[in-house]
Amino acid sequence: MAKQGECAICGAIGPLTRDHVPPSSVATLRGHQESKRILHALRGLDDGKPVRKTILQSGNITETICQSCNNNLLGGRVDAEFARPTNQLVAAVRSRVHLPSFFPLVFRPESVLRAAVGHILAMNNQPPSVPAPDSVAMREFVLRRAPFPEHGLALMWFHPFNRTVLWMNFIHSQGFMENLGGAFLMKFFPLGFLLLFPKKGTLEIPPQVTRLDLLAAAHGDTDITERFRLRTILRSDWPEGPSGLEANFGGNTPGVVVTPRAGHYVLKA
Ligand SMILES: [Zn+2]
Repeated sequence: MAKQGECAICGAIGPLTRDHVPPSSVATLRGHQESKRILHALRGLDDGKPVRKTILQSGNITETICQSCNNNLLGGRVDAEFARPTNQLVAAVRSRVHLPSFFPLVFRPESVLRAAVGHILAMNNQPPSVPAPDSVAMREFVLRRAPFPEHGLALMWFHPFNRTVLWMNFIHSQGFMENLGGAFLMKFFPLGFLLLFPKKGTLEIPPQVTRLDLLAAAHGDTDITERFRLRTILRSDWPEGPSGLEANFGGNTPGVVVTPRAGHYVLKA
């Protein structure tokens, strides 16, 4: 019998269905040989160990959303749209010996952002009955197609690593806590997504990231071609592993890191 509870997106009480990150529509690595080839294609980049030798694990599964949210807000066409840029990237790294500095990705920014926020909500351990402002704004965006919260940033970047990280509702800070914001992180090969809600000061954004929120605001759900940065990649543990004056505070919301064949463990940032 299905687990009963409160849907993490719409708040309805009833049977819960499974959500999967990465979504099953997203292509994953095909084992040792392919990883070796991608490693070769990325050779010379500033981060030493792009893709390790093992295959990406099946990912993380939660039972947190109702059938309707699963079918209508995620899954089906929505996840197919979500998978488009991912699968283009996978195809690009599969077919090339050397990766270009920029790669043209074709996708619908609003659909990709809505699906990303939906999966992030499904992974969030905070039920809708707890009225946290950032989570409420994210639900409005997914459920009622409200604009993405004006003060929020949605970042997307190339993540050529098999490290899968889900960390919900933590605080990311920079510069002796002068700048900080609420953060929701979901990343898996080959893309990372970070939602940031600045609370104080200005959060500095690395040049390698694409502002998905700005693309969605400017282009809505029309197909765009975005020159996506493949070289000068972010390090594999950004942003959950802070460096310099960055810090992260998880409170009582631990994250999940899925590493190949290592199972799940609680993230200690
Ligand atoms: Zn629901």
